[in-house]
Amino acid sequence: MSEIRTHYRNCNICEAMCGLEIRHRDGEVLSIKPDRQDPFSLGHICPKAVALQDFHVDEDRIRTPLRRSAGGWQPIGWDEAFAEIGQRLRSIQQQHGVDSVGVYLGNPNAHNLGSALLLPRLQKVLGSRNRYSSASADQLPHHVAASQMFGAGLAIAVPDIDRTEFLLILGGNPVVSNGSLMTAPGMPRRLKAILARGGRVVVVDPRRTETARLASEHFAIRPEADALLLCALIRTLIDDGSVDFGNVAGMVDGYERLVEATAAFTPEHVAGAVGMAAADIRRLARDFAAAPSAVCYSRMGASTQSFGGLCQWLTLVLNIVSGNFDRPGGAMFPQPALDLLARAPRTDPATRQPPRSRVRGLPGHSGEFPVATLADEILTEGEGRIRGLLSIAGNPVLSAPGGARLDEAFSRLDFMVAVDIYLNETTRHAHIVLPAASGLEIAQYDVYFNSFAVRNVAKYSPPLFAPRGEQRSDGQILQGLIACLGGAADEAMPEALLDAALRSGPYKEQGLSLQMLLEHPHGIDLGALRPCARERLRTVDGRIRLAPELFLGDLPRLHASLTDAATPRDFPLRLIGRRLVWNHNTWTQNAHRLLKAAGPITVQVHPDDAQRLGIADGQMVTVRSRTGQLRLPAEYDSDIAPGVVSIAQGWGHDGPGIAMRRAAAQPGAGINSLTDTERIDPLTGNAAFNGTPVSIRAD
Ligand code: SF4
Repeated sequence: MSEIRTHYRNCNICEAMCGLEIRHRDGEVLSIKPDRQDPFSLGHICPKAVALQDFHVDEDRIRTPLRRSAGGWQPIGWDEAFAEIGQRLRSIQQQHGVDSVGVYLGNPNAHNLGSALLLPRLQKVLGSRNRYSSASADQLPHHVAASQMFGAGLAIAVPDIDRTEFLLILGGNPVVSNGSLMTAPGMPRRLKAILARGGRVVVVDPRRTETARLASEHFAIRPEADALLLCALIRTLIDDGSVDFGNVAGMVDGYERLVEATAAFTPEHVAGAVGMAAADIRRLARDFAAAPSAVCYSRMGASTQSFGGLCQWLTLVLNIVSGNFDRPGGAMFPQPALDLLARAPRTDPATRQPPRSRVRGLPGHSGEFPVATLADEILTEGEGRIRGLLSIAGNPVLSAPGGARLDEAFSRLDFMVAVDIYLNETTRHAHIVLPAASGLEIAQYDVYFNSFAVRNVAKYSPPLFAPRGEQRSDGQILQGLIACLGGAADEAMPEALLDAALRSGPYKEQGLSLQMLLEHPHGIDLGALRPCARERLRTVDGRIRLAPELFLGDLPRLHASLTDAATPRDFPLRLIGRRLVWNHNTWTQNAHRLLKAAGPITVQVHPDDAQRLGIADGQMVTVRSRTGQLRLPAEYDSDIAPGVVSIAQGWGHDGPGIAMRRAAAQPGAGINSLTDTERIDPLTGNAAFNGTPVSIRAD
């Protein structure tokens, strides 16, 4: 038996980039613990990290390329797989046009070095405009707001959480999620530190979340009223004459248009719809403005709703007009070592017209169309119909709105390729499945999450273990796909691209390179965020667009919600999602440690609502929406606002033909049986999961 060795790497399950210390021997993990020398996570991990070993040894993982046949799945070789994929996809495109092959990208691509660096090449070689991803069921409104105001969708300003004196959170639960579009491992510690230095944390959410329990104050807002509240906060600052652009004074256009457009959104006007007293809204605005530093952060609940685009725009506006943009303790741009934003061309957002999807005419943003219309584009006949699909690391049948219709759509494709680690509800429809290495089997450098991190850091880890069976890294698979589609035979692998980027990036003066990262396995601290908007803005003139017409044009719809918000009689409750600490999206449910800890998936309902409906705590109920229904136990929860119910996202692995045995044995309930492809934010096309009207009835 060989000696015990220690390996350091970042966890790649969620966005937090927690440093891990992994002790191993002879290809076996002995322990996964927090890396206390990691300069960013400082010894924080959550319970999910230990599951990395489960994914490595999981006997349900796909080990070899597979072809679907009448007799079931048949193992095939890589060369044969690539040859067939290239021939079939190109043949579809030659017959029906380049757009007849679509691409769907799941969330794990954002955690993967190879995907981050090589997917743009694959998309270019494929040439199709039919691109979809999990972003439009999640954070697309952030990118649209950044693109319109700062010139590039990747220009994401994050809360400088370690220096702020006032953190206002709307629709986010970072104690459980550990931050999202705000990479900040150890959120409970960071939030407590704000309070310990005399600052405040205020949470606005229909549920008194785990984060709200730590906060100085919590307001139970009505679902989908966040944009109204943000307008009223901004309006208060305008009316008080306390607007101050701070560090970006002289760089902001459109203030007069903002003043005019928000005139009707006074606290008194919106209070009823928001569910907060006008006096509380004014007090919140004034406290925010008066704090030595403050930052507003709005996330999932404020993005995946009917006004997601407005929410993200208004969040940025509040930070800017309160003088909290591009300053310590406010909203700041990270400066990552591999700097994708610096490569983005300078643009004039006002001249960009979003393309429209073929069937529903939904807007395309950030180079993709909303996943809410992917099934329409496959099922609706006509020129440009999607007949072939490449799905990489995704399970939209379980995670995108209208899962049942997507399930049907995928079954009608002429040819589908999936790159994944499991046969799941989506990949089961593929004609060829390519087995990806993952987690401990691949090199780790967080291209995207360093771009959203609350501190500038860099860390690279080589693979810990060799892939099992015939698995290949995403980088290798993408190279194979590019080549089989006739792309240039570029042998540059992700490490070479990473090294070149580091050597030419913002830390080249410090000699940053791949070799330097290899010599610092705990990671390198590159310092606190610093004001840098002048360098980071990607608008042609280097100025901030405070009031883009795209958003101003959506304000009448928001105003109409003040009077149109009648609750449908058949569906009198509003559904919101929530994340559990024990799982991440849909792919972690086959890890036995996480599954065991998660417990039953319930619908949380306020006891007053439950008793009025004759529902006992723990009783099985049926939840119905316009598009579907599901059965699950009710859970009394006085932390949830009356009129609102909540179900955890990412569950429901009970479809036919999947090979995730543990997940299927304890499937829970899949929330997207209830979600509706018609419920989108029309401005961005993002799915509006939150606020779905539902009914609940005792079985
Ligand atoms: S918070 Fe995220 S990155 Fe950190 S250990 Fe948990 S899953 Fe991994």
